[in-house]
Amino acid sequence: MSEKFTGSFTQQEALPEAAIEAALNVMRHGRLHRYNVVEGELGEAALLEQEFAAQLGAKYCLAVASGGYAMATALRAVGVKHGDKVLTNAFTLAPVPGSIAAVGASPVFVDVTEELTIDLEDLAAKADQASVLMLSHMRGHLCDMDRLMKICDDAGIIVIEDCAHTMGAAWNGVASGRMGAVGCYSCQTYKHVNSGEGGLLITDDAEIAARAIMLSGSYMLYERHLAAPPPELFERVKFETPNISGRMDNLRAAILRPQLRDLGRQVARWNERYQKIESGLRGTPGLTVVERPEAETYVGSSIQFLLLDWSAQKLQDVISRCGLRGVELKWFGPPEPVAFTSRYDSWRYVAPQSLPKSDRILAGILDMRVPLTFSLEDCAQIARIIRAEVSTVYQAGEA
Ligand SMILES: *Cc1c(COP(=O)(O)O)cnc(C)c1O
Repeated sequence: MSEKFTGSFTQQEALPEAAIEAALNVMRHGRLHRYNVVEGELGEAALLEQEFAAQLGAKYCLAVASGGYAMATALRAVGVKHGDKVLTNAFTLAPVPGSIAAVGASPVFVDVTEELTIDLEDLAAKADQASVLMLSHMRGHLCDMDRLMKICDDAGIIVIEDCAHTMGAAWNGVASGRMGAVGCYSCQTYKHVNSGEGGLLITDDAEIAARAIMLSGSYMLYERHLAAPPPELFERVKFETPNISGRMDNLRAAILRPQLRDLGRQVARWNERYQKIESGLRGTPGLTVVERPEAETYVGSSIQFLLLDWSAQKLQDVISRCGLRGVELKWFGPPEPVAFTSRYDSWRYVAPQSLPKSDRILAGILDMRVPLTFSLEDCAQIARIIRAEVSTVYQAGEA
């Protein structure tokens, strides 16, 4: 008789009481628009920006409507124009190339390594093709950021970090989002803080910050921001920067502030769960665990492993056998996009690009969410199920 997991891979935790209280407070006074403040009131959105900037040690922060919006805004703010090319990861999710398409630019895909990070050799080889890199820390895996920054600095490439999966992560002690010119975060339900939708953008560059604030739809109310450059800076940009509305509201900001204060504790809880699963999977024949570099402080909100060079049929067998036992695995291999997963060649608005090295790796990546609603026992059980099913299919194939 085989055990079955009965939990949900998409169920997040309830919001903390402090967030619920803060939300009720905003709803009671009704001033949800971020610039709708009374005399002496700072506003939840402005406070959120101030606190997030301090938390990350950034000079400036802007809260916006989504992570994807933050990324498109960052691209515009650093000067990407219609028709430009932007380097980005071949292994990422649809909002990343989408943000590049949003500004009329086109992605140049860079290979993925077996560590699931951007391939720095391929990046160096393509460095002359664009002056901006939209770097996706996909699934929370950080590449050697020192080497990446060296390659980009030498080539004069501006780096924008997509930190949708790395809020709370760091490389050699430097927070993800603080190495490139701009860091972008998502506050969507499946990320590390949950306001349903939402995004944050940080930078130390006053001009980028001023442009981003104008772009987000601040009209001429930028003086109500608490993590913005001084008003003089806006003089230069305020007439030439379009208003592309994408503000965050006070209700979402109110919900986020207590969650950000709790981020460190949540990261530790994610990592306990991640490590439980990882140790349960280690040593499974045919399965490659993705080793985490020593310099990386990660957030294990999802886990990936590789069934490298397995046939599509055997991979499908593993997925369906695990599925029957309640374990939902996502695969980046299928020819058509499914739910949240898609491949670089399914974004057909982009000119076709050939990345055989990435094809091999994408065809072997299995991915699983690790929500905090899982107990450590759940994690151990999930690992046992995957281990058993991978072993069964692997052995059947060998016989
Ligand atoms: C979720 C996500 C985004 C965008 O975030 P939204 O808030 O959903 O727009 C960007 N990049 C990656 C890798 C993501 O997973």
